[in-house]
Amino acid sequence: MTPFLYERAADGRAALSSGARAGASFLGGGTNLVDLMRETIARPTLLVDVTGLFREIEDHGEGGLKVGAGAKNTAVASDSRVRQRFPLLSQAILAGASAQIRNMATVGGNVLQRTRCAYFYDHAARCNKRKPGAGCDAIGGFNRAHAILGASPSCVATHPSDMCVALVALDATVSVEGGNGARELPLADLHRLPGETPEIETELRHGELITAVTLRPNAFAARSSYRKVRDRASYAFALVSVAAALELDGNRIKDARLALGGVAHKPWRAHAAEAALRGRAASEAAFAEAAEAELSSAEGLRHNAFKIDLAKRVIVDSFVKLASKEELRR
Ligand code: SF4
Repeated sequence: MTPFLYERAADGRAALSSGARAGASFLGGGTNLVDLMRETIARPTLLVDVTGLFREIEDHGEGGLKVGAGAKNTAVASDSRVRQRFPLLSQAILAGASAQIRNMATVGGNVLQRTRCAYFYDHAARCNKRKPGAGCDAIGGFNRAHAILGASPSCVATHPSDMCVALVALDATVSVEGGNGARELPLADLHRLPGETPEIETELRHGELITAVTLRPNAFAARSSYRKVRDRASYAFALVSVAAALELDGNRIKDARLALGGVAHKPWRAHAAEAALRGRAASEAAFAEAAEAELSSAEGLRHNAFKIDLAKRVIVDSFVKLASKEELRR
């Protein structure tokens, strides 16, 4: 581990002031950053501990919630308002990591966790994300866990968060503060696809701090689910995950939400599938067509092509189950 200075921020202003210094990183629960520092992949010269800040979960407008970025994952998943209004979020958080890690991890840290591509953590491997221009050993290597959507010749890594997949499906926004003031942006626009610069993972500028995630009311609480397919039942990252939600008017799909995890460099909002479903009768055939539409641009590598069919099947099964209270037309 490279030597570093440590500061515990007394308030938001102090955090922003220290976080703006060259070489500074914000420290949340440390469940990813400390690993990266141990492996000397991240080498901040100053750690600004923000774990005491922005921990509140507050009502926001009629039926919405504003979740502080310092709220622990466990606190969010167990909050009765989250469970009632946004059960999809609670399910997704509980599908991630282990109870011990969820007790430590913060919302802001979860959003900003980095890929678990094994080559990224291995200094003996070539990795454009760790060392721009070095190459990517995952593309010709063991790539079972890697991306099938939105990848590039520079990087095929996936974003590891479950929570973010639910948040993207729910149209969450993030509040960001920094030296140039405060701004709000959709979570779906925060993470980037790799392109030629996989080392740039988000739209955050140096010194900017996520302070909250906002959820606005929706009509999906009664019919939403988070499904995660992985190699073992717990403490494993998604091969494919599906955050799905339906709003029905009789058997007609008034609105649908779909986001996928484990398939791309960012939580993948499935706009093509959603568009294919709006206004249709809820049927297994309609769900299958929507899944086909979304995965039509998917590309498999040597070891991960199975994810394309797997994603389609989990999408269809999720929507069929969500619609099952209505009579499905086959
Ligand atoms: Fe690095 Fe991305 Fe290639 Fe993994 S997939 S080795 S993170 S460049």
